[in-house]
Amino acid sequence: VESQKPSSSFNESGIHFFNDDSNAVFVDPVRVLNRSYNRFNVSPSTYYPRFFESPRNEPLSTTVTASEQQPKRKRKRNKKKEPPPLNAREQIANRRHQEVRPLLLKAHESLLQCTEMLDVLRTLRNDSCGCSKREHESVQHSFIELAQEVPLLEVTLNMPQHEPHQQLIDVNDDFPSVQCCEPRVLPAFNNLVANDAKDDAVAEILNSQYIVPRQSCFYMSDLGQIRNLIPANADSGFNLIVVDPPWENASAYQKSRYPTLPNRYFLSIPIKQLTHTDGALVALWVTNREKLRSFVENELFPAWGVCYAATFYWLKVKANGSLIGDMDLFHHRPYETLILGYSPGNVNNSSNHSKFKPVKDDHVIMSIPGDYSRKPPIADLLLDYIPGLNPPRCIELFARELIAGWVSWGNEPLHFQDSRYFAKR
Ligand code: SAM
Repeated sequence: VESQKPSSSFNESGIHFFNDDSNAVFVDPVRVLNRSYNRFNVSPSTYYPRFFESPRNEPLSTTVTASEQQPKRKRKRNKKKEPPPLNAREQIANRRHQEVRPLLLKAHESLLQCTEMLDVLRTLRNDSCGCSKREHESVQHSFIELAQEVPLLEVTLNMPQHEPHQQLIDVNDDFPSVQCCEPRVLPAFNNLVANDAKDDAVAEILNSQYIVPRQSCFYMSDLGQIRNLIPANADSGFNLIVVDPPWENASAYQKSRYPTLPNRYFLSIPIKQLTHTDGALVALWVTNREKLRSFVENELFPAWGVCYAATFYWLKVKANGSLIGDMDLFHHRPYETLILGYSPGNVNNSSNHSKFKPVKDDHVIMSIPGDYSRKPPIADLLLDYIPGLNPPRCIELFARELIAGWVSWGNEPLHFQDSRYFAKR
């Protein structure tokens, strides 16, 4: 099969579609996110802290065997012990996996056959902006702890000026805050903080700086305050609602990264009230646990009034193109799932569901994962299906970053906006 060269637009868009009909796409989140900024670049070396080690002779096959994944000690133990038989739920999960497996392998094959794209992958972590690397010895603030300790914490938003030549920039500062005449001092928590300008702003909290892209907003709060986001008028609701909940997970590592919540808490997320009158596409990230998949299908989407539309997959690869883990390792699949559905908006209009465009199922989005649990930006791949306005009104729930033009909500939406993740353009 002849593979397609990375399109010249990949450099700009960060997205490469493969030329077969496998719905496969490769995404470089750094390039995609950079489109949100005028004066800053997302630093590739801080975006990609993992998966760039390339020991010599590492296999580039689609199926990395389980034994190749295991440290030596474990391999011995595994030899002695047969894995216990799958219970009923695990069997359903396994069936789902067997169904999607050929699609994922086909997508991965498209990547492996595209040598030009593989060459590009190896370079994605190179900081090419010509900027000096910054050392960040200071500990990054935990907004989850600050919300408890300093509930009245303030953020100083240094707005950009519209006349660039009037900006007063301190050239000795690595991250010059554009000194506008009147920085805005606002409550950091339980408050909508907006950069309504057409340029990046720099926010300051306790001597740390956060880059706020043009026309983006954040609302930093606990789930208990999420109803404050409901617009007074449904015309100001959202057309795209991306949700990445803190699902409970056995992993102690996850527990140390952010708090999780039992499933029932997510039933009360006011998706209906956040939806624009024209309707919304809802994109929900889920893990591969069968309990979770059936909760979403049978309880969560019905409670939100969302009708199922399609399933996309995020297949995680290393910089050398191989999968991050064995495709068939039961509890550590190298992919995650994005479930899409439509929220009808104007509920009085019964024909609303049928007016939405059917979503082409089974897209496979490939990328090299960033930090723990950080999802690739997916909005570009959904544009065709978002109902209503153009440009659409977009919100991310449980966000850890900001995007130009979007509202980001969660208990730490500024996490990846810390200046340590950026470099000056
Ligand atoms: N989408 C994010 C990304 O790509 O980086 C990851 C989101 S992570 C799966 C879930 C987020 O929900 C974490 O930032 C976590 O701190 C936040 N969270 C946990 N409990 C919360 C709560 N009670 N209220 C608001 N946010 C919460």
